[in-house]
Amino acid sequence: MKSIYDFNYEQMEQMVLDKGWKKYRGNQIFQWLYRKRVSSFEDMSDISLVMKEELEKDFSAKPLKKLSCQIAQDGTRKYLFELEDGSSVETVLMIYNYGKCVCVTSQVGCNMGCKFCASGLLKKQRDLTSGEMVQQILEVQKDLDETGDRVSHIVIMGTGEPFDNYDNVLNFCRTVNHDRGLGIGARHITISTCGLAPQIRRFADEQTQFNLAISLHAPNDELRNEIMPINKAYPLSELMDALRYYASINNRRLGFEYILLKGKNDTDACAKQLAQLTRGFDVFVNLIPYNQVDEHGFQTVDDKGAMIFYDKLMKLGVRCTLRQKHGVDIDAACGQLRAKYERSKSK
Ligand code: SAH
Repeated sequence: MKSIYDFNYEQMEQMVLDKGWKKYRGNQIFQWLYRKRVSSFEDMSDISLVMKEELEKDFSAKPLKKLSCQIAQDGTRKYLFELEDGSSVETVLMIYNYGKCVCVTSQVGCNMGCKFCASGLLKKQRDLTSGEMVQQILEVQKDLDETGDRVSHIVIMGTGEPFDNYDNVLNFCRTVNHDRGLGIGARHITISTCGLAPQIRRFADEQTQFNLAISLHAPNDELRNEIMPINKAYPLSELMDALRYYASINNRRLGFEYILLKGKNDTDACAKQLAQLTRGFDVFVNLIPYNQVDEHGFQTVDDKGAMIFYDKLMKLGVRCTLRQKHGVDIDAACGQLRAKYERSKSK
């Protein structure tokens, strides 16, 4: 059954028109879902009984099932949700001084196979629907409602490759961005990709206000081929060409993510290559402490090592930040919680 959360605002209006109802009914339903945040058609008190029955017959409004919610000392919350088909997905809430940021899962498992990542331990089973991504935000928001807080930022950096699920991800972004609903600012929504060059070009052409982040992690093809298989399909030259195209028609700053892997990508040579690669771009490099995944054997750069690499980049004129660690006490690395859960289920 189709989920009511799959409709963006315009599609909701079209859906009610198709039923022969007035257009404003679309707005009403959208507001019930995303402003008043009810979890059933029954609770939509200004919708007639006949309409409610018809909506119930055609669409599901059932909330995601919360399997668990771990809360770390720094306030980070890690949710494990169960989808209709029994798959499980992780969603993380991070508390920053500038707001509350939710990290959303875009696929069940992931096929990109990055060698350092826990998500790839479980291959992709399917794409998430737009509604399933919307519901991750909605469930976290409902918890925040208890303290009068709101989700202000979204990063699509959970399990999955968002550009391998392009249409649903963009539809999701539009739904949560709409000012008649959750109204999360486009400039506060970040799509992160491991570097699917054709989709970067497609995204560039759409000229949205959503942010684009690239998981770079290695500044030369040799190392990138080793740790990110996607680089064999779209090597750095192709990726950078696509980004140049993006930059030529979008007046937005790019984010480059760079996890620090000890002895791998934190060398002097890497710093210089990274500086070379980013020259001429309006970019910000986000240095990320690696959350160790036992199965993979890579090592985290310690705080001191991270500062040294940061200083090197700054001296080379690369603008960068060193990301703070979140939720270190609760399996917050991508895919860790789900991998554990799925393993325990199969035991
Ligand atoms: N597929 C997308 C989004 C999901 S991964 C992408 O590649 O960007 C989100 C980010 O977390 C990526 O930068 C990814 O490389 C990084 N990441 C994966 N595993 C990690 C780990 N164990 N520690 C720190 N960052 C990790």
